[in-house]
Amino acid sequence: MSGDCIFCKIANKEIPADIVYEDETMIAFKDINPQAPVHLVFIPKKHVETMNDLGDEDAGLLEKIFRKIKAVAKDNGIADGGYRTVINCNRDAGQEVFHIHVHLLGGRKFSWPPG
Ligand code: 5GP
Ligand code: ZN
Repeated sequence: MSGDCIFCKIANKEIPADIVYEDETMIAFKDINPQAPVHLVFIPKKHVETMNDLGDEDAGLLEKIFRKIKAVAKDNGIADGGYRTVINCNRDAGQEVFHIHVHLLGGRKFSWPPG
């Protein structure tokens, strides 16, 4: 838990969110400002600010999250059509919440390269 972190507060149920999955290491919830018909945010319960702050002790954390994303994408009917996963790191990538998270976006087509 980190003092003012909004995603720690969601993980601790201090502020509400539309939670779609939770286990001992992660939580997934609907993005408050969805950019696609399916837009979920997956976070580790551990407060890690950015990709740059992942340490050796975090080995396996993102793999667990991505394995769950694969399952949730299937459950949401977007696995075959396709989906996008995004991790924004720091300001140039547009990171707004400094608790590492993976966006799962699907249900529409996406362009490449991103803007
Ligand atoms: P970032 O730009 O940091 O990669 O993405 C942060 C995401 O968190 C944004 O898509 C934003 O809409 C979402 N978000 C920010 N605050 C909240 C909140 O309080 N609740 C939920 N459910 N999503 C949030
Ligand atoms: Zn946090």
